Amino acid sequence: MNILILGSGGREHALAWAVMQNPKCDKLIVAPGNAGIAQIADCATLDIENGGAVANFAEENAIDFVIVGPEAPLASGVADRLREAGLLVFGPSEAAARLEASKSFTKEVCDAANAPTAGYGHFTDAGAAKAHVRKHGAPTVVKADGLAAGKGVIIAMSEDEAIAAIDDMFGGAFGGAGAEVVIEEFMEGEEASLFVLVDGEDVLAIGSAQDHKRVGEGDTGPNTGGMGAYSPAPVLTAEIEARAMEEIVKPTMKVMSDRGMPYQGVLYAGLMIKDGLPRLVEYNVRFGDPECQVLMMRLGAQALDLMQAAAEGRLAEAQVNWADDHAITVVMAANGYPGAYEKGTEIKGLNSLPEDSSNMVFHAGTKRETGKVLATGGRVLNVTARGDTLQEARNRAYAMVDQIDWSEGFHRRDIGWRALD
Ligand code: ATP
Repeated sequence: MNILILGSGGREHALAWAVMQNPKCDKLIVAPGNAGIAQIADCATLDIENGGAVANFAEENAIDFVIVGPEAPLASGVADRLREAGLLVFGPSEAAARLEASKSFTKEVCDAANAPTAGYGHFTDAGAAKAHVRKHGAPTVVKADGLAAGKGVIIAMSEDEAIAAIDDMFGGAFGGAGAEVVIEEFMEGEEASLFVLVDGEDVLAIGSAQDHKRVGEGDTGPNTGGMGAYSPAPVLTAEIEARAMEEIVKPTMKVMSDRGMPYQGVLYAGLMIKDGLPRLVEYNVRFGDPECQVLMMRLGAQALDLMQAAAEGRLAEAQVNWADDHAITVVMAANGYPGAYEKGTEIKGLNSLPEDSSNMVFHAGTKRETGKVLATGGRVLNVTARGDTLQEARNRAYAMVDQIDWSEGFHRRDIGWRALD
């Protein structure tokens, strides 16, 4: 089978790594890829948000299966164009991708499915939004409706903060994404992510994870794209996972099918758990980054079979072969991230690291130049390990981190603390 993966981050490196281990994979191309991916697959330059261009490329390269990594191509209808061209695709249609691209859409689907989530209002003018805040008080959560790369969410501890956020959003701080604003009840609890494959009809849970969004140790400081993650999430017990599947995932997927937009791909359910009850925080329509890295480390080669089963509508007969294992990933980022950071600094020591089914360094923002690996992004490496226990996985990951020689980068030393304490 010839496979094309779209994307260029640590998530896509992990997907490529898992797919390559499956003997079914004859050829793998990743577009655009990165320096780490280039060591295991062909990389190609391609405008991955242009469905026509991707379809042509797939045809020219005799591709049998396309796996879409990030949300932007899904939200712009790339999966639809590929399906129209007769290709097998892993990833939802533009209509179904609204579960991530529009927060008010998701809230409305949850209402229709009677799925537990935060109470909310949605507004297209500032006056009505402010009146809602004054009526319901603080703390509250103010969200730009559209995609804002994780930055369009303000947890407001006071009414004044919420009002300022409303002014910012309607003032254009998030462009078109803030033309509509959702205001939610603030939910307390512990967050975890549940990953579910969906084939339009059937669903299959493929693992849970927790990430560390804040830049600083002890989960302090500004938000980032994620400084580390681990799987499974102990807070998501089998019982709570079953509730989340029955009360949230299955009913919302049924609403999507009933409305003529069946969902196909991976559904990432961000959950808030309190007193044993899960509520939906958000849906994403792709794997999380860095959560994908820990999931792929645990699933290995079967990830390809499972994604193919989802794309072909065969999930009813699919199952996950679980090893009773744990995985963790530690993000190494450029000094200064998530603010301004230097690019082009050299990373040494990568060649001497183990690369096997329990130890991998996934590249997120790197390039190779005259034999050197250079940092090109904010989040640069995902040092990922697996073990029989989370502690063992963590020890392995930090042992690798300690061999990497990159004085212009930093990482957190406490990834997984919540699960280990
Ligand atoms: P990201 O892309 O970073 O996941 P996003 O822009 O899609 O973010 P959300 O996931 O909806 O936005 O919110 C981001 C974070 O804000 C959540 O992970 C959660 O920590 C917090 N949050 C969002 N909604 C609520 C809520 N109603 N109550 C409490 N916390 C919330």
